[in-house]
Amino acid sequence: MFLKKNKPVIRERDDHCISRANMDADAVKVLYRLVNSNYISYLVGGSVRDMLLGREPKDFDISTDAQPAQIRKLFRNCFLIGRRFRLAHIVFGRKVIETSTFRAQPKAVKGEDGLYQAEDNTFGTPEEDAKRRDFTVNGLFYDIKTFSVIDYVGGLKDLERKMIRSIGDPNVRFREDPVRMMRAIKFAAKLDFFIEKNCRKALKTHHADILNASVPRVCDEVYRLFTVNASEAAFKMMWEFNLLEVLLPDVSEYINRSGKLTSPLWRYLAALDSISTNNEFSNGIRTAVLYYPIFLEQCEKDKKQFPNGRINRMQVARKVLRNLSTNLHIPKAVFFSAVAAMDMVPRFDNMPSKTRAARFARNSSFRESYDFKEILLTADGGDLELLEQWKQLHLEAYDDGANSSDVTESSTRRKRHHQSRGRRKRSKPNE
Ligand code: ATP
Ligand code: MG
Repeated sequence: MFLKKNKPVIRERDDHCISRANMDADAVKVLYRLVNSNYISYLVGGSVRDMLLGREPKDFDISTDAQPAQIRKLFRNCFLIGRRFRLAHIVFGRKVIETSTFRAQPKAVKGEDGLYQAEDNTFGTPEEDAKRRDFTVNGLFYDIKTFSVIDYVGGLKDLERKMIRSIGDPNVRFREDPVRMMRAIKFAAKLDFFIEKNCRKALKTHHADILNASVPRVCDEVYRLFTVNASEAAFKMMWEFNLLEVLLPDVSEYINRSGKLTSPLWRYLAALDSISTNNEFSNGIRTAVLYYPIFLEQCEKDKKQFPNGRINRMQVARKVLRNLSTNLHIPKAVFFSAVAAMDMVPRFDNMPSKTRAARFARNSSFRESYDFKEILLTADGGDLELLEQWKQLHLEAYDDGANSSDVTESSTRRKRHHQSRGRRKRSKPNE
């Protein structure tokens, strides 16, 4: 590869910006307890990458040469999980510090649908552990003992170059685990990095292999694309590299017939990205945004079919979401909240009589519909003041009566989507 074997690049304490002050205090405790028991103890993966970029890490993962049973002995709050490769979850309240023993890249086996990894249970050296990871920028270690960054895979240079590069041949790595293709896109969008040339080629060649990956993993990864503050960029890449064509052909076809790079879809995704609390939107709202332009198109078609021009928005929403529901097996709650948001959103266009409005403001779907309307108004322009009045009415409705305790002005936005599911009796999706 691009580095001599066994010789990592070491970046000493004074030559990088990682500081213990930026780490989670419990992760630091775990690192020290391991090192004080004479084990190697490294911070790994996304946390090292993000701290080197001056970003706040989402979580802190640890790798060590201590074996799972040895880790367990050190921590009372430790649970071993996983059947094949056992991981230690060290639990602090609701937080989990994932601690794994260094492992080697499992051997790829040729199966009917391409390569897959048969076994994932061999312990390995730190170098092997770095090389089994997906991208060079995700393969860096931070050593708590020396405060240095250890790089076996060329990740430091790629961070400087702003480059997502596969560790090893991407043609092999993407076939072993096709979800890596979506991860490449997610990281490129999130960090605003380029995808390296060979990786790009491999994406073009192997995009259809994504259908060999497990559907729940792919579904999870689709929704993660919305959590990177760059869903517009992420879905553009999904479309450009033809992953969307195989996963969500209806969305890809819509983009192709509605102007490609000038498709209205990008405007809605950009609006979602621009709202500062977008990481708190529910998957139902994300789904509604992704399918909204298709929904509008279908509404127009249906209007022409009916002489009075009246359409049933709920039915149209169910129709346009059917493909997504079949292809990604999205949870029913996500399906129904997307349908409800698409159905209810016109109610925000006028302020009806106080009683009817108050009833809507108390509706369990109100908060998600409100989020959705905010995104649509941001994309299309419109009366944000009226939306603010709805918010006031909603707060008053809760002040007046039931469930007022946990809805305050400041908590409304954050809690909205958690509280809005599953209260009403729902009918089945229209299949
Ligand atoms: P994020 O900030 O999104 O959490 P992350 O890099 O921490 O990014 P995780 O999904 O939390 O990503 O995974 C942690 C680490 O595990 C990655 O940095 C990478 O080194 C390794 N990893 C995760 N998934 C894969 C995979 N499919 N193949 C190889 N290595 C992987
Ligand atoms: Mg992570």
